[in-house]
Amino acid sequence: MSQSVSSDKPFIILGQGIAGLSLVWALIQAGVEPERIYWVGFGKSTESVPSGASWTPVALINPATGPSAKLIPDAEVALSHTYSLIDWIQTMNILHSSPNFHVLRPAASRDMAEKMRQRIQQDSWPAGWQQWLEPDECAAQFPGIFHEHGALWIKQGGHVPMPSFLQQAIEKASSDGITLASTTTSDITQWLEKGTVLCATGASTQSLTTNQHPIWPDLGLHQVKGQMMTIRLQNPDEAPKIAISMKGYLAPTETPGEVAVGSTYEHHFEHTEFDEKGRQKLLGVAKSILPNASFDHESIRGWAAVRVHQPPERLPVIAKHSTISGLYVFTGFGSKGLTLAPAAAVRFTQRLLRAV
Ligand SMILES: Cc1cc2nc3c(=O)[nH]c(=O)nc-3n(C[C@H](O)[C@H](O)[C@H](O)COP(=O)(O)OP(=O)(O)OC[C@H]3O[C@@H](n4cnc5c(N)ncnc54)[C@H](O)[C@@H]3O)c2cc1C
Repeated sequence: MSQSVSSDKPFIILGQGIAGLSLVWALIQAGVEPERIYWVGFGKSTESVPSGASWTPVALINPATGPSAKLIPDAEVALSHTYSLIDWIQTMNILHSSPNFHVLRPAASRDMAEKMRQRIQQDSWPAGWQQWLEPDECAAQFPGIFHEHGALWIKQGGHVPMPSFLQQAIEKASSDGITLASTTTSDITQWLEKGTVLCATGASTQSLTTNQHPIWPDLGLHQVKGQMMTIRLQNPDEAPKIAISMKGYLAPTETPGEVAVGSTYEHHFEHTEFDEKGRQKLLGVAKSILPNASFDHESIRGWAAVRVHQPPERLPVIAKHSTISGLYVFTGFGSKGLTLAPAAAVRFTQRLLRAV
């Protein structure tokens, strides 16, 4: 990065989702004084409104990706930063060494089980991170969960209740002396006048302006709508304690007997609300993961948001603005923000601060 960052200017982080939080945390870890950090949410002047893809009822930390459960690159580094971020928030009751902080990946078919087993051999999983369970082992270990073709038991990974996690992160930041602010406009001129601006604004990034001119017209972010829902089980004892990922995912919420079910991947959409199509799709996911459970359909609460990535590689977008000095973008974490953004924030802020 050739852009120099004035050493006494504040850092203005736009966006109170997982990307913005990761930047706040990474700057603090790198030794930046909290007084130099402004964390800006979107909403009315007194209090920002929880909005954006990060405020899902539950999000998974999952080092395996795609249908064959491929291990993500640099998985150890990625997860260690995600866990450090969780530990920083301190007040959160997420024990990532707990046996409930695991992800189960049942194979949906015999063919898929074969592909998953081959993939495990190819990838360099760190010792103790995973175990393949044959169908009978899976049934004994995780009763009630679809197990016909076996499952990959991922012992590093888990689920996080995002609304309370982010709320507590905001409280932690405030109590540490970081200035919280909010805005109702997509014009960022006022922030550029104040300091170095880091846009962690997710799907809204392309609508940011300065003096009515779009700031990032050429980012080419691809938008994918995702719907989720929470639902109660008729028998609360049947609610699993760990997260399960199979053609979607199902994970416990903070309410006993209630699970979160996600998510849809809609590349073309006419609105960004939860709808009947999403409800039906997610009920299908829930029933395939817990085939014997009965669900209380009246209890369904739906949720939808848009995540973004940059095609074709689906990589995040972390860049300096080509003409506006002191302006950066940090977005595009697709469907893996919680797993990828903290490590990306550490690398990005190291380079940013070296340029001071
Ligand atoms: C249904 C669904 C399920 C998902 N499940 C998972 C999962 O299990 N695990 C996982 O890791 N990821 C999951 N994801 C993806 C994850 O949510 C995203 O990767 C992540 O939320 C991206 O975070 P972000 O901070 O970049 O964007 P966002 O969370 O969208 O945050 C951007 C924020 O910027 C704010 N903003 C907009 N304009 C301005 C402005 N002018 N000034 C200040 N702020 C502004 C917005 O209000 C918003 O809060 C899921 C996503 C969806 C939709």
